[in-house]
Amino acid sequence: MARYTGAVCRFCRRERLKLFLKGDRCYSDKCAFERRSTPPGQHGQARMRKMSDYAIQLREKQKVKRMYGMLEGQFRRTFQEADRRRGVTGEILLQLLECRLDNVVYRLGFASSRRQARQLVRHNHIRVNGKKVNIPSYRVRVGDEISVREKSRSIEAIKESLEAVVRQGVPGWLELDADNFVGKVKALPERADITMPIQEQLIVELYSK
Ligand code: SF4
Repeated sequence: MARYTGAVCRFCRRERLKLFLKGDRCYSDKCAFERRSTPPGQHGQARMRKMSDYAIQLREKQKVKRMYGMLEGQFRRTFQEADRRRGVTGEILLQLLECRLDNVVYRLGFASSRRQARQLVRHNHIRVNGKKVNIPSYRVRVGDEISVREKSRSIEAIKESLEAVVRQGVPGWLELDADNFVGKVKALPERADITMPIQEQLIVELYSK
């Protein structure tokens, strides 16, 4: 599956919001956004002028897509699935995004960013209900047990991420047994569980045009 491999800090500057795409670096004074928060490029300053409704909707979609490390096609297909389901489309979209395996690995603290989580999954470090799953977009279900492969539990990056998350805690819909490198999906995420500033309605409006 294709993925974006270029620089990501420019995304934060473009969206004028810290998207926390680089793990520990995002919390340090090396964060590019802390040093310069204007949009990237020669005309970065000019981009800060008043935006049209369409531009606002587009930026919101780009922001969420980048937050979850997805490409346009994947993101659109996820939206289309949310749109087909019964309920509030925007909220279902966020729920589908949160239930991606790479996001759950990140939320459980096995990785310090979704990017790193994706790599862990791709490199076979993660088990779902004891079975190898190396598809980052795999959708977890209530009751699923996500764990780090036994051989991988000594990886320093995983141990450091776990220490940080033990201090901060995991979202209410997940449960973590840090000693055994195991997490469980207790429930599907509710809208209130997603604390990043997202206006999903703008994405629905954009795709409904
Ligand atoms: Fe964004 Fe993190 Fe880069 Fe800062 S370090 S600009 S938060 S990706």
